[in-house]
Amino acid sequence: MSAPSDTQRMEKIVSLCKRRGFIFQSSEIYGGLNGAWDYGPLGVELKRNLKNYWWQVTVHQRDDVVGMDGSILTHPAVLKASGHVEGFSDPMIDCRTCKAHLRADQLIEKKGVKQCPNCGGKDLTAPRQFNLMFETHVGAATDESSIAYLRPETAQSIFVQFKNVLEVSRKKLPFGIAQIGKAFRNEINPRNFTFRSREFEQMELEYFCRPEQGMELLEYWKAERLTFYENIGIPRSKLHVLTVPDEERAFYSKGTYDIEYDFPFGRQELEGVAYRTDYDLSQHQKASGKSLEYFDEETKQRFAPHVVEPSAGVDRIVLALICEAYSEDQAPDEKGKMETRVVLRFHPRIAPIKCGVFPLLKNNPQLVAKAKEVVGLLRPQMTVFYDESGAIGRRYRRQDEIGTSFGITVDFETLGEKDPALRDTVTLRDRDSMKQERVAIQDLPAILRERLA
Ligand code: ATP
Repeated sequence: MSAPSDTQRMEKIVSLCKRRGFIFQSSEIYGGLNGAWDYGPLGVELKRNLKNYWWQVTVHQRDDVVGMDGSILTHPAVLKASGHVEGFSDPMIDCRTCKAHLRADQLIEKKGVKQCPNCGGKDLTAPRQFNLMFETHVGAATDESSIAYLRPETAQSIFVQFKNVLEVSRKKLPFGIAQIGKAFRNEINPRNFTFRSREFEQMELEYFCRPEQGMELLEYWKAERLTFYENIGIPRSKLHVLTVPDEERAFYSKGTYDIEYDFPFGRQELEGVAYRTDYDLSQHQKASGKSLEYFDEETKQRFAPHVVEPSAGVDRIVLALICEAYSEDQAPDEKGKMETRVVLRFHPRIAPIKCGVFPLLKNNPQLVAKAKEVVGLLRPQMTVFYDESGAIGRRYRRQDEIGTSFGITVDFETLGEKDPALRDTVTLRDRDSMKQERVAIQDLPAILRERLA
């Protein structure tokens, strides 16, 4: 059973994303480009923190994975060999009443009759296959010979460069090649905010192995990926592992898991973990006539390695992080009256801004100078937001709403005016518990580093 959808919650999230600069509709002032999104100042930080953490644990912290960054423009031969030109399509149905283009699985059924989900119309065309790839032309000619595609996944450049990367990295099986980058799919019906977009980013790992290791490594990577999600603040209880049934799995895959998350609009896929056998390397080897084999020095055997692929969508995870973080609670306003507080409870690891620094009063030069000194101390190590305008409670609220992990206030005690023992101390406020403690400025970097790790 999937979780019930929560339209109101989703509306609040979408509105917060725009209001505070996480996500804007692309080309908004011209009416918007459907299925494309722009990330604002906070969205870009969140996205980078996610990608950096994935890269850190997938590439930097491992001996057996190297990275690459392939081109988006893709030679048609690559996508012919991979099967995308022929088969990367969804069945599409048109509603003759409201003219909507629909994916076949989006129709609703009432009393055994299929209907358009938009207008309820029953006059529908027969399904036809619609290829999701964006085609373009390279160079001045615009004929068959100049066709290229915007890649529909990052994986294919990894397979095509397998031999080059193997040679330069001198890795032994099992080993992986990782990539983060844009992918493009001309989705029939982009929807659910950024969840289904036409331009999006993927974080993919192709982990090559011997045939007999495939099934075991599929389990291994499923477990690794679940741990990853927990480490960025998505609780295990909100994640679900779907074993893709035989009839829905790609014919070459011996096992596929979908890792799903309970979004407010329902349970949906975040990532696929698939054991793809040697299908991709063998296909490219056949089509290109170039060897993509691995030579095993111990057994003196040559073979195309098998591969296990964890393939995650950056934008979907960013959306899941925002949905998971969004909460409302009660907090006192300046006069002590309780009010609703909107707070994004991001894990400190991925929070766009790590701490806000506030002088108690903006018209006191000593307070301002001290606060700027604190900013200077912390900025080389983390993202810091300096804010001197408005009542302190309002400044806290503004930071809570964007998920800033900590607030640091410089007050008269910092200047040593009340008690010389408190000179050069500040209050450190925790976003979630709203608890405040007094800490020495010189201890701030170490305390924050520990809590942000
Ligand atoms: P779906 O069934 O939702 O269309 P898929 O199974 O086709 O997804 P894959 O080809 O396995 O997706 O791609 C791997 C990951 O890339 C997905 O788990 C998802 O996170 C991301 N992804 C795929 N399509 C889109 C899209 N249109 N918008 C945003 N992210 C996407």
